[in-house]
Amino acid sequence: MGGNSVTVIGGGIAGMSTAVFLFREGFDVTVLEATHKIGGRAYSFHDEETGITFDNGQHILAGWYDNTFEFLSAIGKKPRLRSNPNLEVYFREPGGGHYEFKARGDNPFIAVAKGFLDYHPLTLKDKYHLLSLRELIELDIAERLLKGRNLDWLLEHLKQTDNLKKYFWEPFVYAVFNTSPKYVDASIFLNVLVKAFEKYGNLSLIIPDETLESLFIEPFLQYAEKRLTIRTSIKAGRFVINEKTITELELENGEKIVSDIYVSAVPFHNFPDLFSEKDYEGNFNAPQQFEPASIVSVFVVPEKMPEGFSDRFYHGMIGLLDTKSHWLFFKKDYICAVISAPEYTVEGYDNFGNEDICDIVVSEIRESFPEFRDVKFKRVKYFREKRATFLPTVDSGLNRPDTECRIDNLFIAGDWTNTGLPATIESAVTSGKKCAEHIKRKFESYE
Ligand SMILES: Cc1cc2nc3c(=O)[nH]c(=O)nc-3n(C[C@H](O)[C@H](O)[C@H](O)COP(=O)(O)OP(=O)(O)OC[C@H]3O[C@@H](n4cnc5c(N)ncnc54)[C@H](O)[C@@H]3O)c2cc1C
Repeated sequence: MGGNSVTVIGGGIAGMSTAVFLFREGFDVTVLEATHKIGGRAYSFHDEETGITFDNGQHILAGWYDNTFEFLSAIGKKPRLRSNPNLEVYFREPGGGHYEFKARGDNPFIAVAKGFLDYHPLTLKDKYHLLSLRELIELDIAERLLKGRNLDWLLEHLKQTDNLKKYFWEPFVYAVFNTSPKYVDASIFLNVLVKAFEKYGNLSLIIPDETLESLFIEPFLQYAEKRLTIRTSIKAGRFVINEKTITELELENGEKIVSDIYVSAVPFHNFPDLFSEKDYEGNFNAPQQFEPASIVSVFVVPEKMPEGFSDRFYHGMIGLLDTKSHWLFFKKDYICAVISAPEYTVEGYDNFGNEDICDIVVSEIRESFPEFRDVKFKRVKYFREKRATFLPTVDSGLNRPDTECRIDNLFIAGDWTNTGLPATIESAVTSGKKCAEHIKRKFESYE
């Protein structure tokens, strides 16, 4: 590695953050993106019929997304976030049941304990069984105990009642891991839990008060203008590899790119395509065994938001219980209903047509919020991202590649790489930061 040129393949959050962190270290960075737009799985689109710009799905940030906030600050973005250092979530049931979970205070453990004490759907027995959580976070045997286990097993082991699962664990597991506890590696769950309890403010769930376009994409493109080379609609083909070193990258348009360092920031299903079969088998142990998980968003646009509809719900997050929709997000002009990985969380989901789901969501909104009973909806739009995340099953961790691999000048980023986190923005940015750190270290060792 003589010079300092880097080609980053993939313009999602992982590629964007790798590029920014590398530029800060003095590297000359080019980002190649196969599609016409930057953002990957985090993007916004304009709906002609209503004039509204929707995100491809509601993206929630968490208080523990330290690397994401560092990335945002590096690109000069002061997010307009509805940021509350506490964890406050509302739940509704069709037929009128409504509950609030509020974990307020400086000490996360005490805050959550108080939150549970006042959380009405839980019985005294439920609350007692929650005490075992603290034990889990503090015990260093946890890692050994959890190896090869899924979250279903862990919740049973911790004697979490059905009530606790229904009113607390399942909604949160859907939101954070995009699937049900059965498909979640208990160790990944513990990693998230530890981060969430690390310090004051980490517990909060942050719902951006703006679109993904304005939060991530526009500031990144402005930042890139004078610092990075961004090439969209350029699809990387194959690496040419000679004795553990990439000598060039062939693009699908026939062009060849030569740089000192290459970073793959493509999703798991595109990664093997960057190699010949022989190079892939020779350099990567495990075949890719990830399963994708989808996210369904139904955008519901009322002719008019109901008169006097409580201000506190705007930009908030409401968990629905006993419904097909898992979470509702109220925006200024519309409601976004989210169904996490319905193929794993909603029985018989794929027997429903898109219009059936739209009708179900609308009736769930009306039944859970009487304020909407007589409101007319001018648009109900169904949107499914088929490969929103990967399923964080027990086996999946073994297949997550490290930043460095057997190929000397190749580094790997992406939410699916070995960050210990579920497929999230924070995992993508963390992978980008790790890439920049590893590249810098390797580069210095050559000097
Ligand atoms: C509906 C939805 C809701 C979500 N909600 C949340 C949430 O609430 N909170 C959260 O933290 N995360 C959420 N996520 C997950 C988050 O969006 C992803 O984890 C993150 O965007 C992944 O970024 P990435 O850069 O790793 O991958 P990607 O975004 O997939 O980027 C990879 C890029 O590589 C490009 N590419 C592929 N092959 C090539 C090639 N050969 N040449 C050039 N380019 C190539 C692709 O076009 C793509 O742009 C959600 C995702 C979805 C879809």
